[in-house]
Amino acid sequence: MKTAIRGALLTFKDDPFVRDMQDCMVYEDDAVVVMEDGKIAAVGPAATILPTLPQDLEVTRYTDSVILPGFIDSHVHYPQTEMIAAYGEQLIDWLNNYTFITEQGFADKDHAAEVASVFLKEQHKNGVTSACVFGTVFPQSVDALFEEAANYDMRIMAGKVCMDRNAPEALLDTPQRAYDESKVLIERWHGKGRAEYVITPRFAPTSSPEQLEMLGALAREFPNTLIQSHLSENRGEVEWVKSLFPACRDYTDVYQRFGLLRERAIYGHGIHLSEAELEVLSATGTAIAHCPTSNFFLGSGCFNVKQARDARRPVKVGLATDLGAGTSFSMLQTMNEAYKAAQLSGYALSAGHAFYLASRGSAEALGLADKIGSIEVGKEADLAVLNLKSTPIIEYRMKYARDIHEALFVQMTLGDDRAIAATYIAGRRVWG
Ligand SMILES: [Zn+2]
Repeated sequence: MKTAIRGALLTFKDDPFVRDMQDCMVYEDDAVVVMEDGKIAAVGPAATILPTLPQDLEVTRYTDSVILPGFIDSHVHYPQTEMIAAYGEQLIDWLNNYTFITEQGFADKDHAAEVASVFLKEQHKNGVTSACVFGTVFPQSVDALFEEAANYDMRIMAGKVCMDRNAPEALLDTPQRAYDESKVLIERWHGKGRAEYVITPRFAPTSSPEQLEMLGALAREFPNTLIQSHLSENRGEVEWVKSLFPACRDYTDVYQRFGLLRERAIYGHGIHLSEAELEVLSATGTAIAHCPTSNFFLGSGCFNVKQARDARRPVKVGLATDLGAGTSFSMLQTMNEAYKAAQLSGYALSAGHAFYLASRGSAEALGLADKIGSIEVGKEADLAVLNLKSTPIIEYRMKYARDIHEALFVQMTLGDDRAIAATYIAGRRVWG
């Protein structure tokens, strides 16, 4: 199965937070991407690639568009699809009054499957080709998502939420059940097709020390799995963690003590971290998922990407929607809010940096940069095609865009799902 598409192309070959943008960003005016058996078989200027293709191979052409690596949402809760836009609360009340009620419905696998289907279709409409996803405490909710993603051969990372305290009885497991059920899911799904398992304590306040201990042991037993949770999102939460774990130096130290910081571990938010905590995250290779729409929606604060990515002790950062506290499936809208978070932190986030975070940056944060996040020969063929003229006002504004940097900035500020002309997963068009 060989297919090819043609259009302008943008990708990143290195990290613009550490090196000059011009050494990282690759832009081609007129490129061709050839996809075969789910991988990128060839990529380069149309003038070079076209003569090498078989006469009968149809090349789909996208004009007024840019071919991008598919977006990677590095932190998202699929069960919260049905409660996006829930009014009036900050983190802890929002969890108690909305989330913990909604998630109880996922004991029913048919319901989980229905939501998983809506969730993945919405991601594809938004050019999201890969994601690191929270399930619920019920293992069948994770099965439902993996099964649905397998229909698209989508690179999906997901895990069963573990919590054994400070949540409604119906959503609690125990340390042993968390370990056993996670292990069964690892054996069933990790490395099956493009699925990968993520060990998923919800966050420190909902896990006892015994549960975190057992999940740390599981992480050592399966060092290639991912780990995901939440860290330092809200000031009240940070104080609560201090009182629950009085022996720990700070919030980050809780996860450190239980062996939950390492390569392929990613924590949502990280807004209120100290310099000492950032140093620990950097030294252990642990990543932060930057979730700006969620942080603004819940009034949690502004994550400072520039500070986190400081080249002297860089912490890996991925971009994420954190739906349903996040308010959009669109990674363009997420970049838009990331720009505002940066402004409120005293600097400007360039379009190049934002598009990097949504693709290669997220792949680096998840330990997947050898497979996805950029358009290179041998990488998996996950692509999004961005229509540069998706609405009348964007089309009008684009007349005044002087270069690709400005054009991309207009897209991330004004664009949304309408700007995604097509989405390809493993070389197959799933949207557009
Ligand atoms: Zn989250």
